[in-house]
Amino acid sequence: MENDNEMSHIEGRLTHSQKAVLWGFLTGNTPDLIALLSLDGRVIWASQSSFEFFKDISESFTTQPVFDKIHPEDRNRVVMEFSKIGQETKKVFGPVSFRLLSPESTWLTVETTAYDLTDNPEINAILSVTRDVTSRHVALLELAESEGRYRRLVERSPEPMAVYKESSIVYANPAALRLIGATSLDQLKQTLIIDLVHPDDRELANIAFEPVDKGGEMHPIEIRLLSLDAQVIHVEVIGIPIVYDGEPGVQLVIRDITDTKQAKAALEYQALHDPLTGLPNRALFVDRVSQALLRSQKSKSRIIVLLADIDRFKIINDSLNHSVGDQILVAVAQRIKACFRPSDTVARFGGDEFVILCDEADELTSLGSLGDRLIKSLDEPIVINNEPYHISLSVGIAESTERTLLADDIIRNADAAMNRAKDRGRRRYVIMDETSGFESAGRLQLESALRQGINKGELRAHFQPVVDATTGRAIGVEALVRWQREHGLESPATFIPVAEDSGLIVPIGTWMLAEALRNAKEWESLPDIKKPFKVSVNLSPRQFLDTSLIDTVKDIVEGSNLDFTKTRLVLEVTESTLMADPEEAVTILKAFNDMGVSIAIDDFGTGYSSFTYLKKFPVESVKIDRSFIIGLGQDKDDEAIVTAVIQVANTLKLDVIAEGVETEQQLKRLSELGCSTIQGFYFSRPVPANVVEDVITVTLPIEEQ
Ligand code: C2E
Ligand code: CA
Ligand code: CA
Repeated sequence: MENDNEMSHIEGRLTHSQKAVLWGFLTGNTPDLIALLSLDGRVIWASQSSFEFFKDISESFTTQPVFDKIHPEDRNRVVMEFSKIGQETKKVFGPVSFRLLSPESTWLTVETTAYDLTDNPEINAILSVTRDVTSRHVALLELAESEGRYRRLVERSPEPMAVYKESSIVYANPAALRLIGATSLDQLKQTLIIDLVHPDDRELANIAFEPVDKGGEMHPIEIRLLSLDAQVIHVEVIGIPIVYDGEPGVQLVIRDITDTKQAKAALEYQALHDPLTGLPNRALFVDRVSQALLRSQKSKSRIIVLLADIDRFKIINDSLNHSVGDQILVAVAQRIKACFRPSDTVARFGGDEFVILCDEADELTSLGSLGDRLIKSLDEPIVINNEPYHISLSVGIAESTERTLLADDIIRNADAAMNRAKDRGRRRYVIMDETSGFESAGRLQLESALRQGINKGELRAHFQPVVDATTGRAIGVEALVRWQREHGLESPATFIPVAEDSGLIVPIGTWMLAEALRNAKEWESLPDIKKPFKVSVNLSPRQFLDTSLIDTVKDIVEGSNLDFTKTRLVLEVTESTLMADPEEAVTILKAFNDMGVSIAIDDFGTGYSSFTYLKKFPVESVKIDRSFIIGLGQDKDDEAIVTAVIQVANTLKLDVIAEGVETEQQLKRLSELGCSTIQGFYFSRPVPANVVEDVITVTLPIEEQ
């Protein structure tokens, strides 16, 4: 109100002529076309600008309604709008935009606002103000055109694109609909954008999109989407803030990388797995061990690595079709895997080497029991094309300590232990003791004491007679080593393994052979002795692998001056030693035969000789292991094994000696089964040479009094 008063106050200061000048100036200089129109649309008055605009047609202005100049398509709309003037209470109409014919016969886009001045009796007309907005209109058109083009681009893009506003999807192009498994946008309209993201990736997505939701920028991220039918889709997605329908939204540009991801995953799998067995390969295994070591350092738990190598696989593989070799590897992989928990890693290092990682092993896990389980897993032969293959493993076991930092360290330890297992005759496990490199401190002390004992001449040879139970006469003796220490007689059970590992068994074996033959030479002159008298000496696996063995035996035999009609040297080799490398064994045994030395297979029944090899080994006798003799007359299984062994030996024309016979019952049962060559406490314990002389020269009572 106050403003109005002020206005009229100012106006009131202008004189009438001043006002007329001002009015003429304004209407003559404004670019707007100002006109006073009658209610039927004819021009009563027009501004100078109007005349300049319409040039020479000004004459027609006053006679014809201005509507003629309006584009036919727009005319009705304009007429409609103007017909309201006077009908409605409002005084201002428009702005109405329409096309107007220019003097150059082009269409201009104009915008007209009309003021109803009909209730002013002095004027009683309509004031129209028309502005040429052609240039602005063209700009708008172009914008719409480019938006349209953009929309078409988005619409037809093979890349999925979508727009969301306040977490809800408001637009999705056909590619996006296809990706998500929707047939129309309506299906998605109720969906929150986050519901389409895989639950595990939602947090990641929220964090990544936060800046975009606030109008900022983001880097493309890789996430998983869930299609409407719950398929996982790997996508790379970027959000761009846009104005959509006049409000802020986010445009999503999506790239389906599921195929790439799968191809990449397949490649990664190939890079980390052995194609034959599908087991993890070395790279993956080393990585798992490294991870496990890190965890174990935190949790103070320990990890165990076992390395298993198939014994003599090269021979098996070379002698067979390679596809059979492959099948054997696959079968071995399965057997090994079955020994461990699913959380343990069983890997193949290539060739015939398998490695196992036992993660987070508790205090109670005994390394020995793991090794045992592995060895036993191949007790049953592997059958391929109805053909049984007897496979064995040499296993090295190592465990981590606080000082184990690198995966390679523990793997190297397991490898070294595995090689020990091979040296010791295969089909066994060896545990690497971290604290002392290999053996426990006690073992090391024992080894050095044994070394000194050998030098000081503390070794003794004891002899146990082998008796023909039908006659009660000794047919020979077995030489068994003893170690005479200050505090008493040490049993081979304690020091032979140390001698094996340290290599001391080689000089011990050489000494025993010489000592046994020295005694044998003396016995040749005994009148009441069975001729030829058999003197048996044990050969350890390590000795058997020693390349100088044949020469050593030859030297000692020749040096002993034995009369082969009176004395027969028998070398006892365990079944597993022979089976470790059967081909090589055949060659060595033949060399012994050539120098007049016989062979007995020791601990028979505990190994896994195939009949094929037994036929090839030039041996004289087999010694049934004591473990099967114990149960005779009681244990059905033992009886069955002993029966089978005797049958096999008979078929192959081999002598059978039963070891560890302690009771009359065992003796009886053995003779019923057809074995009458007996060694055991029943007749005599192993005793020194001077004592055994009294046993081998007499007839022994067969039934206990
Ligand atoms: P082995 O070759 O199987 O020797 C037989 C073992 O059974 C001997 O144990 C012997 O004392 C024992 N034995 C014999 N009859 C009976 C019996 O009726 N009852 C029981 N309970 N045991 C009986 P020993 O002398 O303690 O030798 C153990 C192992 O040490 C031998 O087993 C052999 O593998 C090894 N060994 C002994 N002397 C030598 C040697 O000079 N060189 C090598 N390389 N190994 C040896
Ligand atoms: Ca023996
Ligand atoms: Ca034996």
